[in-house]
Amino acid sequence: MELIDGKKAAAEIKQEIAAAVEKRVAEGKRRPHLAAILVGHDGGSETYVAHKIKACAECGFQSSLIRFESTPEEPLSQDELLAAVDKLNNDPDIDGFIVQLPLPRHIDENAVIEAINPEKDVDGFHPVNVGRQSLGLPCFHSATPAGIVELLARNGIATSGKRVVIVGRSNIVGKPLAAMLMQKGDRANATVTVCHSATPDLASVTRQADILVAALGRPGFVTADMVADGATVIDVGTTRVPDASRKTGFRLSGDVDFESVAPKCSFITPVPGGVGPMTICMLMKNTLLAAERAEEKK
Ligand code: NAP
Repeated sequence: MELIDGKKAAAEIKQEIAAAVEKRVAEGKRRPHLAAILVGHDGGSETYVAHKIKACAECGFQSSLIRFESTPEEPLSQDELLAAVDKLNNDPDIDGFIVQLPLPRHIDENAVIEAINPEKDVDGFHPVNVGRQSLGLPCFHSATPAGIVELLARNGIATSGKRVVIVGRSNIVGKPLAAMLMQKGDRANATVTVCHSATPDLASVTRQADILVAALGRPGFVTADMVADGATVIDVGTTRVPDASRKTGFRLSGDVDFESVAPKCSFITPVPGGVGPMTICMLMKNTLLAAERAEEKK
């Protein structure tokens, strides 16, 4: 069994991006600029945004954090948020931006995503980018699936002709990953099956996978009996489970029962340190791409 080291791959990619940025700057071009909108104080969202801002510094990007308070007593209105999105859409200094999800329940996430200029949608969530991805056209790929594809490639794990089973059909992981891996072309060309909560006899499907991707958000759900000998297992799950021995009071748990599954695998990602670090890298890659495209348009 070989452990897929997402942390190492992410560090390498950030160095590659930083080198590309310094080359741009030496050519007299601007540093890529990523903005993030954060509403409220959700613990997970605070952490993700802090990691994104840190990654910007590591890549030599400029970053801006736009914070909005929202409480049950004084909720942020959807119109105020849409106005902030509009401002970033029209700010020539911003190459790309994200609106950190989840948003408070009274705000329609789809309306906010659809308001983002697709050319600055570095999360790749806008329907234009999702549609272009499905068609195999140039676009901003959704970061987590792009990170998985990159991890497979960097570890020499071929996807062409392989049976890939994805458990989970969310708009940010399962669906876009299926769309990417079923394309005709490099780093794709797989036979893809997507499972979900209505899939009967799930284990009989997952056992057919050469590459099994678990993206459910259910700690330890995938057990050894669900995995074929020699399979590659990609664990996307990152659920906070209470852990009194940690300073934070929680630890991150994957969707795979690592102890029982790892000995059966040819490759497996750990949690943390697998898919997670790659997601942020792919956001950085998209931001660099957005800056390059903006430059081309000048
Ligand atoms: P989500 O939107 O909650 O979707 C979960 C999916 O899993 C749904 O399609 C659901 O089926 C399916 N599912 C749930 N229970 C199931 C069961 N018992 N059998 C089969 N399918 C089942 O999740 P998500 O946003 O994709 O996130 C999934 C996990 O990945 C979470 O732990 C999340 O924190 C993590 N994540 C990590 C990263 C990263 O960068 N590492 C990025 C994104 C997400 P239905 O559609 O039928 O309900």
